[in-house]
Amino acid sequence: MSKWLIASIYRTRCKMKSSRLTALLSMIGVMVFALMVLSPKSAFAHSPDLPITEWNIQWIRADDRTATAPPEGGAWLPSGTGRPLTAIPEGAVGAWVRLVIPPTSAWNHPTLLIERLYGLDVSVYEEGRVVYRIKRNFDYERTKLLLPVAAKGDSTDVILRIESKTRAGLVSGARIGEFNAMSERFVRKELPDLLLGASIGFLAMIMILFTGYLSRRQRGPWVALSLIALSTSIILITYSPLPNIYFNEYGRIFQLLFDTSMCVLFPAFCFYVDSVFEGRYAFFTTFGRWLIGYCVCCFAIDVLYQVFGDPVYPIYRLFTGMIFAAWIFVELLMILVLSIMNAVRGNRDSIILSLGFLSLAIAGVADLILLFASHSMHVLFIWKYGVMLLIGSLVMILARRISADYAKLLSYSKELELYNHRLQRTEKMKIISDLAASVAHEVRNPMQVTRGYLQLLSSKTDEETKRQFSMAINELDRASTIITDFLTFAKPELDTIVPLNVKEEIQQIETIMSPLAAMHGGVLIVRIPDGLYINGNSSKFKQAFINMIKNSIEALQSEGIIEIEAFAEGDTAVIRVKDNGEGMDEGQIAKLGEPFFSTKSKGTGLGTMVTFRIIEVMKGTLEYRSTKGKGTEAIVRFPLVSRDQFQ
Ligand code: ADP
Ligand code: MG
Repeated sequence: MSKWLIASIYRTRCKMKSSRLTALLSMIGVMVFALMVLSPKSAFAHSPDLPITEWNIQWIRADDRTATAPPEGGAWLPSGTGRPLTAIPEGAVGAWVRLVIPPTSAWNHPTLLIERLYGLDVSVYEEGRVVYRIKRNFDYERTKLLLPVAAKGDSTDVILRIESKTRAGLVSGARIGEFNAMSERFVRKELPDLLLGASIGFLAMIMILFTGYLSRRQRGPWVALSLIALSTSIILITYSPLPNIYFNEYGRIFQLLFDTSMCVLFPAFCFYVDSVFEGRYAFFTTFGRWLIGYCVCCFAIDVLYQVFGDPVYPIYRLFTGMIFAAWIFVELLMILVLSIMNAVRGNRDSIILSLGFLSLAIAGVADLILLFASHSMHVLFIWKYGVMLLIGSLVMILARRISADYAKLLSYSKELELYNHRLQRTEKMKIISDLAASVAHEVRNPMQVTRGYLQLLSSKTDEETKRQFSMAINELDRASTIITDFLTFAKPELDTIVPLNVKEEIQQIETIMSPLAAMHGGVLIVRIPDGLYINGNSSKFKQAFINMIKNSIEALQSEGIIEIEAFAEGDTAVIRVKDNGEGMDEGQIAKLGEPFFSTKSKGTGLGTMVTFRIIEVMKGTLEYRSTKGKGTEAIVRFPLVSRDQFQ
């Protein structure tokens, strides 16, 4: 009974928790989705702007660095959104880019917007004059350009001089349009990343703050997850061009933060996943340790590069670029394979992790398809949803673990409480049985004598007095039942133990109890198969079942039905007494079997106690299930005896 009750309590609690968590996650997901998808579109809607998809480039040779104009007669290479040339070839330091601006007189304040530009030192020339320049002393090449141009009736050339380290030039083309629309677009497209980054960062901070409340076992994965969230947030923010444009002077710090976050993200991810696998794969644990070592080296090289600058650049690029990418590739591949292997075996956490990865893969593929379909105009962004979902899956796994721990704790404390309860009850029983044994016997004899005399006297008096005598005798009988109950409880030894045919016994009880049931407006329905035999004492068996059935009858409301059925289950005989009466609440069920517990005005509160005791002595068990207002079911189990044993 207790286990059944406890199990159902957890199930409802756990269900509640996971459903709330899922709702929360989906709400955040929908909000971010709306923000990311809607904001760039609304900018689109009001901008009657023109895209520029073709341009020309010339590489700037290292020995030609000082030139302030592209070499006369130099060969311009055609470039465009379909074939953006940005990788700087050997011997070059950057590129000259020539854009042809169409007539601009249609706009009040014509403005040129380049959304994806690679370059560290960018100058813009209009008619041979520098009209704009941005120069960076740090290595982040991605930037954007928003440049008002003169309103003209003819098309004009705009020349860009871009110096950079690895990439120089445009990727997804340029646009020309009204200043307001262009500047809105300039900022708006980057906002979702910044908001997303800031909110994940905020969450990470809160998670770190709560670390202290967790047990040691939970703390490791929790801290790892907080670090994953924190580093993802820093990567999102510092990778966005806006902070680097508006806070140019902090560019180096942003770069160091970005690199450090990369060095934290992947080892933390490895550690977290290792805890999901519960350290089952030793080689993965070892890989994680090596990765931490590698990332510490990378961090040291980052710092050296920030201090010593260019001389360290080749080492910096090698370690934080190519080799690191290889590490990440191996890590992700291993996690993917291991989590699928585990998921196939039915490990739920691994299934969630695999789904997180799957969504990242699908998002990545969707991005690539769009890129292909839009002839390289598309700027990759769907993968960010994938990252969100992956982080969501990590959060879900952790939440599941913590709630499982909580459920375990709850079960221990419930069991302890039950144990205490049972102990107290046993002690009470012992006191009562000692008391009962000493008193009951002494009282019963004088009572029997008194009853005899009362009967004798009643036959010699008039009708009126006879009625009073009969009332006195009834009360004496009631007292005697109570004493019998006490005696049964105190000395439940079964004088004669014989194999009992359950069907016969219950049929006899049915005959005795049916009239009482009818008086309370109820019926007894009995379904017992032949051939169920148990060991016991017939009169004690009857006493136990009569007590149970009597309680059921007393609990009946209108149209009461009491079903008594029995069946064999393995090597036990199961007898069920089920009524559709008033039922009991949890508190009442817990008190059942305690002496003097009764909710009836004339109840003794001894019946169930005696029933428990008799069934216990007959080596059986009794379990109650009840729902307030619906009914009660008493389930009795006795060891079965095969007929051959006594024939
Ligand atoms: P009594 O019948 O004298 O009250 P019992 O020990 O037989 O004492 O029962 C104790 C209490 O358990 C009852 O008062 C009643 O509240 C509750 N009870 C027992 N069986 C049932 C039942 N089938 N339906 C509802 N309540 C029950
Ligand atoms: Mg009773």
